[in-house]
Amino acid sequence: MTLKVGVIGGGQLARMMIPAAINLGLDIRVLAEADGMSAGLGATAVGDYRDEATVLAFAEGLDAITFDHEHVPQAILHALVDRGYQVHPGPDALRYAQDKLDMRAKLSELGLPVPVWARVETVTELEQFLADNGGAAVVKTARGGYDGKGVRVVRSADEAEDWFRTLAEDGRGGALLVEELVDFRRELAQLVARRPNGEIATWPVVETVQQDGVCAEVIAPAETSIATPLAENIGRRIAEGLGVTGVLAVELFETTDGRLLVNELAMRPHNSGHFSIEGSVTSQFEQHLRAVLDLPLGSTAATAPASVMINILGGPAEGTLSDRYPAAMAAQPTAKIHNYGKDPRPGRKVGHITVTGDEVDEVAYRARAAASHFQ
Ligand code: ADP
Repeated sequence: MTLKVGVIGGGQLARMMIPAAINLGLDIRVLAEADGMSAGLGATAVGDYRDEATVLAFAEGLDAITFDHEHVPQAILHALVDRGYQVHPGPDALRYAQDKLDMRAKLSELGLPVPVWARVETVTELEQFLADNGGAAVVKTARGGYDGKGVRVVRSADEAEDWFRTLAEDGRGGALLVEELVDFRRELAQLVARRPNGEIATWPVVETVQQDGVCAEVIAPAETSIATPLAENIGRRIAEGLGVTGVLAVELFETTDGRLLVNELAMRPHNSGHFSIEGSVTSQFEQHLRAVLDLPLGSTAATAPASVMINILGGPAEGTLSDRYPAAMAAQPTAKIHNYGKDPRPGRKVGHITVTGDEVDEVAYRARAAASHFQ
């Protein structure tokens, strides 16, 4: 019988699961938020993921349910589990990707390395944290942030006053996460897949380069350092300790003194793993589908010594990405172009380029040269 998998959320992550599902002969269905979304190809339903009846109707007959984002409310996730659906990652794991305060508390409890952090409810508490931590800190909203939205470097508690006000207006007794401003040498990401039976696969750790809080480039594998061998162990401990099923991305800081600290978690395929479509024997998208269906995981071995992925952010000021194909394809025949079918908009992730090859500098040069055609 054909296996049926449902993806809640219609962004590019759901879109990139579709070719992997086709290759495996899976029946993949997407619940998109609106018409015309990135994953709006094939068996797409349109509806609100915050509405229980909509999600339950979508779930009917599915062998596994997974996600393109982490925003499905806990009550709806539990309603699915209570009705016997296979939900991966499940609500008890996903809560740590939904709330940065819960995540920091859980990782600290498990003894994993994290930046110095605190839960702050008032300007006075934030002032105290700043005084205790050298006068600078990073304040984050616990929920709803992405691509650096909801992250602010502050040197005075007044700079987060508007966020405290929003919390007070909300009236639900919320708090902000504050953490030390980490002096990092670079950012890394460890990608892990875990299936319900406990099998785990890890990819080689990668370096991620951010611009204005948004991932711009990924270099796979990351150049080896004293810290890089620790990443895999951290990834495994988080996947097991939190009971994650599916793909997990662990964003890490490598500090100037050679330590690794966990920044963020994502429990789904992640921008840091897009290189794996061409650069790994099993892509993160195929692996995610295998994992959520509790099938044996594929090899994560590299297909080439180096892969570099460049995001296309914003896209051309005029026209569409495909208008630029003739020039880009002629100039960079080794570049693999991924177009998410989204309208160009400043800063928006509308596609990416991956180049694989023998030598990282040459691969990076070619990838950047190809991406430059789409600005
Ligand atoms: P988002 O959930 O919006 O992606 P992150 O928590 O990953 O937010 O933060 C976005 C970026 O901000 C990180 O990739 C990093 O460059 C920077 N950043 C976040 N936390 C810290 C920190 N404690 N110290 C220094 N830089 C940080």
